[in-house]
Amino acid sequence: MSDSYYDVAQICINGHVINSMAKDYPQSNQKYCSDCGEETITACPSCGSNIRGHYHVPGVISFSNFHAPSYCFNCGSPYPWTAIRLEAAAELADELDGLTTDEKEKLKSSLPDLVKDGPKTVVAETRFKKIIKKAGADAYEGMKTILVDVVSETVKKSMFGA
Ligand SMILES: [Zn+2]
Ligand SMILES: [Zn+2]
Repeated sequence: MSDSYYDVAQICINGHVINSMAKDYPQSNQKYCSDCGEETITACPSCGSNIRGHYHVPGVISFSNFHAPSYCFNCGSPYPWTAIRLEAAAELADELDGLTTDEKEKLKSSLPDLVKDGPKTVVAETRFKKIIKKAGADAYEGMKTILVDVVSETVKKSMFGA
């Protein structure tokens, strides 16, 4: 269907979706996020491409819930909310007790692959599980809170049961 198109999404830099139809319904746009007060964006900060929003199909009214994408479809850069979470998770990894420096490094290096859906995701997941088990339940809960919204759908189910 050639008349189908993506609207533009407006999302705050922490990843709260403000408006998945920022082009067709600009009256719902906000300069700042009402959940966290951060600035909102409608385009990739790296390449300037619009963030893809709701997918319009003529004659079809869909209520699919829209999720903020993790990476830019045009240049592959992580969006700010993805970058912030990866950074926070890496900082948390450094704070965990009971892990050796080597384990902390391995945990940190597995983070970007948890967000991508690629062949290395399984490896990253296995590594993550092994190390986080050693770090304990609080560490796991902390990582879950930070990462659950940006990890790939597969990881979300198998690792966080969400
Ligand atoms: Zn926000
Ligand atoms: Zn981009």
